[in-house]
Amino acid sequence: MSPGDEPYDCRTSCNRRFLTAALDRLGIEDEVRQLLLSSYCEARFELPLRREDGSLARYNAYRVQYDQSRGPFKGGLRFHEGVSMDEFCDLASAMTWKTAVADIPFGGAKGGIDCNPAELSRAELEVLTKRFVERLGPMIGPARDIPAPDMGTDEQVMAWIVEAYSKRYGNRNSIATGKPVALGGIAERTGATGEGVAKMTGWAVAAAGRDLAGTRVAVQGFGSVGSHAARCLSAKGAAVVAVSDSTSAVYRGDGLDIESMLDERRHQPEARVSELAVDADRLTANEVLTCDADVLIPAAVGGVINEDNADSLTATIIVEGANLPATYEADRILAEKGTRMVPDILANAGGVVASYIEWAQNRQGYRWRSARVEQELERILENAWTAVCNRARADGTGMRSAAYTVAVDRVRTAMMLRGF
Ligand code: NAD
Repeated sequence: MSPGDEPYDCRTSCNRRFLTAALDRLGIEDEVRQLLLSSYCEARFELPLRREDGSLARYNAYRVQYDQSRGPFKGGLRFHEGVSMDEFCDLASAMTWKTAVADIPFGGAKGGIDCNPAELSRAELEVLTKRFVERLGPMIGPARDIPAPDMGTDEQVMAWIVEAYSKRYGNRNSIATGKPVALGGIAERTGATGEGVAKMTGWAVAAAGRDLAGTRVAVQGFGSVGSHAARCLSAKGAAVVAVSDSTSAVYRGDGLDIESMLDERRHQPEARVSELAVDADRLTANEVLTCDADVLIPAAVGGVINEDNADSLTATIIVEGANLPATYEADRILAEKGTRMVPDILANAGGVVASYIEWAQNRQGYRWRSARVEQELERILENAWTAVCNRARADGTGMRSAAYTVAVDRVRTAMMLRGF
């Protein structure tokens, strides 16, 4: 989602500015620099749809493929009103650095449709998705570009993608990840991003010389990422003192009962977090960012930590569950305050790592045991964490600069080895 109502401008985004800083730090030669700063392909399609009321609607659909030096393009499909090419370019760029930090053999991509999925019936959404795949067909493929769910899309949308693609190109469940388990998806994918965020939080707390048990954590967003992160951290003994959704927030100084909130949500899926927690104080949705906590996990939307509120944040560790939750200016203010930031391209990589494991299984035509999936997920994330910490120590920088430096260095190396 574009922060604020302004048109998205990827040139001023946090991702772009940290990318530029990493290119400077690595002293990358000008011609390669231009390649790393621009996308490989930006496609726009117009999709007509005969609505059930008889009217003919037209939707803009996009796919941005940023870089494939390290492997096939990889990135989600977002169905959301107001999305733009600029926003997808930035998100595709961030995906490139995320797969590189995680050291999984993918490049970066992103795309989607400018539509409000809530206004479409399931049947209309199915037709629109399959039409999008007809247009995307020659661009995507299991060894070319592999979509996954993002905002406004889910495992059912991925199942329609498998069907539309397979009809034309032969049965290929490895064309998309985040699929239903019955079509080759993996059960661990759903919670993987939040679990990865929780693992990163544990490592960040330990690196600060503290114990996770009793550490007070505030989580903005109680959706897929936020709720899984809160559940894992609570299970590991952290006190999750605050959680929010888009309209409400709750606080309890000795820790909320996250399991009972999740239980309650099974009975009332539409309930606000303020309706799920008993014996907790009410906050406004935004107060979760500045409430009294040791760790803050923004796991909702982009741009929520900005120059207006960065000074008021009390948490000394921020683990970015959402994509691009902090603006560049906020990041500078927080760095000066000594806040430790675990950047999005590292912190929320668990989802794409699980996607990689799903894709690897599909390509093998084999299903791994759950224990093996968990072990691989942990191994890949821990290696990424260690590589970024080592780089931060060697360069004397924060984690975000280090993550971009590791990523850009890996992509540049692959690009140079392939040649032009
Ligand atoms: P989701 O739709 O499941 O949940 C989003 C949550 O944020 C909801 O609780 C919603 O009420 C809340 N929210 C929305 N606007 C808010 C606002 N202005 N203030 C406070 N809360 C608000 O989404 P998700 O899948 O959990 O994704 C959250 C973020 O993580 C997004 O930035 C997404 O791009 C990023 N992300 C998700 C994954 C994944 O695997 N789901 C992977 C990587 C990154």
